Amino acid sequence: AKEDGRNSMKFFDPQMQANISARAVLEEELHLAVERQQFELYYQVQMSQDNIPLGAEALIRWNHPQRGLVSPLEFIPLAEQNGSIVEIGQWVLKTACRQLQAWQQHAATKELTLSINVSAKQFHQDSFVRKVRAAVNRFAINPRLLKLELTESLLLDNIENTIAKMRELSMLGIQFSLDDFGTGYSSLQYLKQLPLYQLKIDKSFVDDLVTDDSDQEIVRTIIAMAHSLGLSVIAEGVETEQQQLRLYNEGCTYYQGYLFGRPETLEAYELRVKKIHKA
Ligand code: C2E
Ligand code: CA
Ligand code: CA
Ligand code: CA
Repeated sequence: AKEDGRNSMKFFDPQMQANISARAVLEEELHLAVERQQFELYYQVQMSQDNIPLGAEALIRWNHPQRGLVSPLEFIPLAEQNGSIVEIGQWVLKTACRQLQAWQQHAATKELTLSINVSAKQFHQDSFVRKVRAAVNRFAINPRLLKLELTESLLLDNIENTIAKMRELSMLGIQFSLDDFGTGYSSLQYLKQLPLYQLKIDKSFVDDLVTDDSDQEIVRTIIAMAHSLGLSVIAEGVETEQQQLRLYNEGCTYYQGYLFGRPETLEAYELRVKKIHKA
């Protein structure tokens, strides 16, 4: 029933119908997943130039009772569509702050930063600044250790309001990293208005950095841009030593990727940083 130009045949395709209801079930389950405590944060280490862990990015996982571990690539877009991302994002924020509070109690972990991903719907809520402030206060954390990863597209819609919110949060001490940098449309003109702390070079430029001259040129440009704006720069998706070396030679200061560690459970991440702290 594929090549029917004649309208809605495929609507009655039972397979298609099954997909639609499977999706509806998943959406419904997403709304319940927070209260059913099915989410978990994984931690992926972020390294500084001298191979010391700076902290981690928190990456959400959904422990689905039947499907097992579901990738955020699968459910975050759904959550953004059905609005459950607001509740999920709030869970991430609280869980991250609770974790920072626990890490503050131990010498080996008390300076570790934690980056969380913030989606557009979550950020653009009127109550977003208030919610972040409440979480920081409730867990009495050092706000400098909490980093928010925002995407270019998020920043571009309603820029005035976005800048105002970022300023308020910056005044609290919270730092912003611009995620997936280079894939959007940011101009220097507009970047310089934003109270950013860091640019994050998208994995797609790191992938072929060693073999593709234009990717090398792009990476060089991004790093130069970051430096001229006084921003720190981190590369994501670093998988090989050659990539790290290139990045290092171009002036990149922080790295994240499988070369250093995959996203891992809290226990595994804590073991990693404690080991390095002792060494
Ligand atoms: P992202 O923010 O760009 O996160 C980086 C993704 O690249 C992660 O995928 C990470 O596991 C993967 N990655 C990191 N290093 C490497 C590497 O060296 N090689 C390869 N092949 N992959 C690497 P993940 O965990 O599947 O997350 C996918 C996306 O889902 C994230 O992309 C982010 O946009 C979104 N996401 C994850 N957690 C959250 C969350 O708590 N809230 C929101 N709103 N979005 C989230
Ligand atoms: Ca991210
Ligand atoms: Ca990213
Ligand atoms: Ca990316």
